[in-house]
Amino acid sequence: MLTTLQVKSSQRSEMIDVTGQVQTVVSKSGIKDGICYLYVPHTTGAITINEGADPNVVVDILTTLDRLIPWRNNYRHMEGNAAAHIKTSLMGSSERIFIDNGKLVLGTWQRIFFCEFDGPRTRKLHVKVASL
Ligand code: ZN
Repeated sequence: MLTTLQVKSSQRSEMIDVTGQVQTVVSKSGIKDGICYLYVPHTTGAITINEGADPNVVVDILTTLDRLIPWRNNYRHMEGNAAAHIKTSLMGSSERIFIDNGKLVLGTWQRIFFCEFDGPRTRKLHVKVASL
């Protein structure tokens, strides 16, 4: 079963905590032991897992990416959003998370973040839950 979540961003660069939405999909699936696959079907949006306890971690990630990959830098891509494409490839388009006893197996401080790099937009996040 494939579920597609909608994620709305409100800024050009943003990391949006989608852990609750993903856990809801897992809970509704009824699968107790398995794996949850996440896939972002965009070229300027990504997915990552990192700390959600201190919101400054996300700020630090975004500001460091901006410093490493500035928006304007004599890129050749005509659309003007080359930085967003580069950040997306660095962060990645997919994640896999174990499911145990119906719950996503995440570390104490871990959260799942949709990474927006060319917002604001409405994005898709595909979620596939499988029993193992
Ligand atoms: Zn582009």
